[in-house]
Amino acid sequence: MISEDVIIVGGGLAGLAAALSSDPHLKVAVISKVHPLRSHSVAAQGGINAALGNNPDGKDDNWEKHAFDTIKGSDYLADQDTAELMCEKAISAIYELEHLGVPFSRFPGGVIAQRPFGGAGFPRTCYAADRTGLVILHTLFEQSLRKNVRFYNEWLVTKLVVKDGKCLGVVVYDLATGQIMPVRAKTVIFATGGYGRVYLRTTNAFVNHGSGIGIAYRAGVPLKDMEFVQFHPTSLFPKNILITEGARGEGGYLMNNKGKRFLADYAPSAMELAPRDIVARAIQTEIDKGNGFENQYVRLDLRHLGEEKIKKRLPGIREICIDFAGLDPIETPIPIQPAQHYSMGGIDVDKACVSIVEGFFAAGECACVSIHGANRLGGNSLLDTVVFGKIAGEEASKFVKGSEGVGKSEEILLDCALEVQRRIEGWGKKDSGQKLHLLLNELKVIMSEKVGIFRDKKDLADALERIHALKEDYTRVYLSGKCLRYSQELVNILEFDSMLDLAEVITLGALNREETRGSHYRLDFKKRNDKDWLKHTQVTLKDGKPQVDYKEVMIEKYKPAERKY
Ligand SMILES: Cc1cc2nc3c(=O)[nH]c(=O)nc-3n(C[C@H](O)[C@H](O)[C@H](O)COP(=O)(O)OP(=O)(O)OC[C@H]3O[C@@H](n4cnc5c(N)ncnc54)[C@H](O)[C@@H]3O)c2cc1C
Repeated sequence: MISEDVIIVGGGLAGLAAALSSDPHLKVAVISKVHPLRSHSVAAQGGINAALGNNPDGKDDNWEKHAFDTIKGSDYLADQDTAELMCEKAISAIYELEHLGVPFSRFPGGVIAQRPFGGAGFPRTCYAADRTGLVILHTLFEQSLRKNVRFYNEWLVTKLVVKDGKCLGVVVYDLATGQIMPVRAKTVIFATGGYGRVYLRTTNAFVNHGSGIGIAYRAGVPLKDMEFVQFHPTSLFPKNILITEGARGEGGYLMNNKGKRFLADYAPSAMELAPRDIVARAIQTEIDKGNGFENQYVRLDLRHLGEEKIKKRLPGIREICIDFAGLDPIETPIPIQPAQHYSMGGIDVDKACVSIVEGFFAAGECACVSIHGANRLGGNSLLDTVVFGKIAGEEASKFVKGSEGVGKSEEILLDCALEVQRRIEGWGKKDSGQKLHLLLNELKVIMSEKVGIFRDKKDLADALERIHALKEDYTRVYLSGKCLRYSQELVNILEFDSMLDLAEVITLGALNREETRGSHYRLDFKKRNDKDWLKHTQVTLKDGKPQVDYKEVMIEKYKPAERKY
């Protein structure tokens, strides 16, 4: 049986940051369902925040102002000590990345360039043109190879093995051989990313099914603040490929069919650079009012930026527009609509990335350390992955050195693997039944139509009922292809379990939360209600059912106030 000290599940930025900060004397390995360089992190465009003060308009910036913007952006649901920790560490994190070899864009004179981003008081987003995620991911991957981190690629983790509150390892499906195997570990870090594909319209990669979050939930780890789902204002219509906030940061305008910069009616001072929840709602409202085009999109106009700036600062965006919409943004405005983009909620961990299960840690988008609260600011997620990925690696290493090991775990691990194997055989034995892709599509439609940007009690209750019906249908699925090598059908069936659980937890949290906060907008409760709802939602699986609890928000120096932009 394969046995490691530290198993990191996920080869995106959080996973690789954890691998690099783990103690090199330990046996450290990364498991990833796709090659690490195909993780969604590679698609990140606009940049990563840190109060370096390099921009001439950002001279007075400091990490405390960054922390305040983050907390205000979160609609005061972020834990303030955690947000401060991240923003303080941001500055050294950027220089560490630079020293590892990340080729950031530069200002004349050579300092790292910084651009304005939504909800930020100063221009503090560092970038590499509009391919920031790509260059950071490649750099961290090369450094991981240099440090001899072991990689198990195209292994799908299907189960977290926990016994008596202790994590013993995972069970994997090796796509290349079709085998189900247990992997023993003294500690496991999940860095499995977001769940965008639970929605129909999303900017997320096809791999983002969120199975890691669901696996942790089924192993008894609570999920936190899952009702807060970020919808990015600008995805390319109709493909929903992301058009970075950097396009507005560089000066792009949003226009309705009357030729008006309509943000003047929603966020008169910040305009296009208001936080994402506000801009996404403004766009959707314009479309719903009949001020969009074909009732589906508005336009992002970059023409006034000029050819040189577009080619230098937004080359990837231009390429996407030419390849996927047949238009050149130098000459033509871009049709855009909001789409699911990011999950503020996730696996409940503290600021050392520690969960309630001994030896189990989580970092990156799959985790909810609680920095982004009810709405994340652009550029803060890449930062979250490198800062908390690093902390997770350090803390997990400390844990391994201080623990007595997991003792006789082989038998338990083998039993768990056998259980997964039997389940798969059960699906394989049937020649007819429910086809999974139909359920998958139905789930996405329900989530987009009923648990989207605008929500109300009736839709949420209806969605919950339909998700329960889908759970019933899921018991009748079968595997039509019998070969288990590279079976995408099997991957989908295995991951759908998690998608259903996530959909249920998101919807339940949204139904219960009778207020509007950040990305969670209730048409029937349009105001934020701090008296009753300034608290984190925490959902735990108990006896097969979600149990909802609430947890205090850590408020320090910033008293909750109305957000104005
Ligand atoms: C198009 C786009 C652009 C973005 N641009 C920005 C930006 O400019 N700035 C910013 O701050 N944020 C941006 N974001 C958000 C940010 O990129 C992500 O939140 C972040 O990269 C997530 O990193 P991660 O390491 O947590 O997860 P990911 O990069 O998604 O990696 C997840 C990893 O987990 C593995 N995995 C998942 N499930 C399993 C399983 N069951 N078994 C085995 N392996 C598994 C996958 O193979 C993958 O390696 C953007 C997001 C998108 C979608």
